Amino acid sequence: MAVDPTCVHCNEADETCSHLFFNCNYSKQIWQALVGGILKGAFTTDWNDIVTMVSSDRLPSTKQFLLQYTFQATVHAVWRERNGRRHGEQAKSASLLAKLVDKTIRLKLLMVDVDWPMNYMNQRFFHPDFLPHQLAP
Ligand SMILES: [Zn+2]
Repeated sequence: MAVDPTCVHCNEADETCSHLFFNCNYSKQIWQALVGGILKGAFTTDWNDIVTMVSSDRLPSTKQFLLQYTFQATVHAVWRERNGRRHGEQAKSASLLAKLVDKTIRLKLLMVDVDWPMNYMNQRFFHPDFLPHQLAP
């Protein structure tokens, strides 16, 4: 049986690496929600540009760490969601997946380092819509 090459997130394009990360409208929304605020004008959905940015040392180290970790967590979540859909699991919306990744990142930041500047946690790095839900007890 041939494997359907169509992207399971948008059903609009062939699933290639560059499509999935992050030209696909679905993954792009997640990536944008999570790092749009950090990268501002430097925001890109191009895999090569992102990898270059993530591995450069031009950003302040805290921001660099945050970007690297967010990148890793987003790739992982999008890939897991893709596998889940291929196995007939219920699809999660882009906003739900972004919220889940956002939560994972916040937990990670809490565990990372006692010296972590708390204002980093409180800055609006992430999409403002996510903050109230994530910070609620
Ligand atoms: Zn797609």
